[in-house]
Amino acid sequence: MLDLFRRRRMWRRQRDLKDSYDVVIVGGGSHGLAAAYYLAKEHGIRDVAVLEKRYIGSGAAGRNTTILRSNYKTPEGARFYDASVKLYEGLSEDLNFNLLFSQCGHLTLAHSDRAMFVMANRAEVNRLAGIDSRLIYPDEIKRLAPAMQVDNPHATYPIMGALYHPPGGIIRHDAVVWGFARGADRGGAELHQNTEVLGMERVNGRVSEVRTNRGTVKAGVVLNCTAGWSTLICDMAGVPLPITTHILQACVTEALKPLLDVVIVSSQMHIYISQTDRGEFLLGAEIEPWTTYRMQGTLNFLQEVSRHAMELFPQLERARLLRSWAGLCDLSPDYSPILGPTEVENFHVSAGWGTYGFKAAPIVGKTLAELVATGRTPELIAPFALERFYEDRLVSELAAAAVSH
Ligand SMILES: Cc1cc2nc3c(=O)[nH]c(=O)nc-3n(C[C@H](O)[C@H](O)[C@H](O)COP(=O)(O)OP(=O)(O)OC[C@H]3O[C@@H](n4cnc5c(N)ncnc54)[C@H](O)[C@@H]3O)c2cc1C
Repeated sequence: MLDLFRRRRMWRRQRDLKDSYDVVIVGGGSHGLAAAYYLAKEHGIRDVAVLEKRYIGSGAAGRNTTILRSNYKTPEGARFYDASVKLYEGLSEDLNFNLLFSQCGHLTLAHSDRAMFVMANRAEVNRLAGIDSRLIYPDEIKRLAPAMQVDNPHATYPIMGALYHPPGGIIRHDAVVWGFARGADRGGAELHQNTEVLGMERVNGRVSEVRTNRGTVKAGVVLNCTAGWSTLICDMAGVPLPITTHILQACVTEALKPLLDVVIVSSQMHIYISQTDRGEFLLGAEIEPWTTYRMQGTLNFLQEVSRHAMELFPQLERARLLRSWAGLCDLSPDYSPILGPTEVENFHVSAGWGTYGFKAAPIVGKTLAELVATGRTPELIAPFALERFYEDRLVSELAAAAVSH
């Protein structure tokens, strides 16, 4: 009851928009808030506005299934995501906010000889980058996930092995959003919720003004951190992106007693499963193939995801589904992000996050802040430049991203 009237606030009360800001960040999800946080923390850039059309964390940041990992397939991807997981490891302390990060381990199941080959290949790439990741066989899988049905002789997808990534795990997504928002606010950034960007003025190859439903602001630099909506914002600046937007769905069962304490992913079965601290089984799948901005779930998803979950965990047969939801995913052609400068001098982008962008939030914030402060693209994100689609140097993560989150 007392909390209803508490005076402490997570961040300052919203004020009117100023006429101009050094940096305008469009999108109050994990990436936009992380950028605002690192701009102040690492570079002392405090004249920053985060413009969010709904509420902080209303997009994919508040809807994702919270898997963090770095066992990607390309050296560029593995290095980049590893830097992010390392930042996450120290983030609760940095933000002085408990993010409930549990590095419980991550298993990507292999159901065929071909999948075993791909996992072995990923493990090699990972270990060369210093990432803890290795191929394991059914005996060890059974030890790590004793409740999972590993030796089913009638399985449509027999479990032949798995890529085991001990530092992978889950984190509390709302806490990440609130922690970054509070940190950004304390650094001086203004958080403007219910503030929708409607258009941009472009003069001499630069964005000069950002038009919103609450007035127009001049901007020194604009960061587009709108994930599922990123093509719409880029269109306003005249920057076409090779991205399509799809929905991704997830659901949870009612709370059950503890059965599973690793994350299980199967790309071939189009499913991933973890058990939350509250005991709910959290189930997810692949994006829906059609493009849309409508975040509405489907019955088909619930049928498919339940069927595959029961193949792995027959114990779930009588578990009731508690709730399901959908969020937007901005998919690039090579399943890697599009990150950094664009042809518009002061307009930078963080997009192409598909189903896997939450784990990248800290490193995106840190590298975008460095780009703004120094005017130079950090080496870590150079491979993800938009130009790669014109220069034929894709960073294909198809085998390690997609359903793997
Ligand atoms: C169901 C689901 C499960 C997922 N699971 C995982 C996972 O396990 N691990 C993982 O790493 N990733 C996962 N993802 C992907 C991840 O959530 C996203 O890639 C990531 O959150 C995107 O970055 P963000 O948080 O900044 O985006 P968002 O939270 O989507 O932020 C973008 C913000 O921009 C705002 N916006 C849009 N247009 C405008 C405008 N015109 N003006 C002002 N504001 C605007 C939106 O309201 C939104 O709040 C999942 C996604 C979904 C949907």
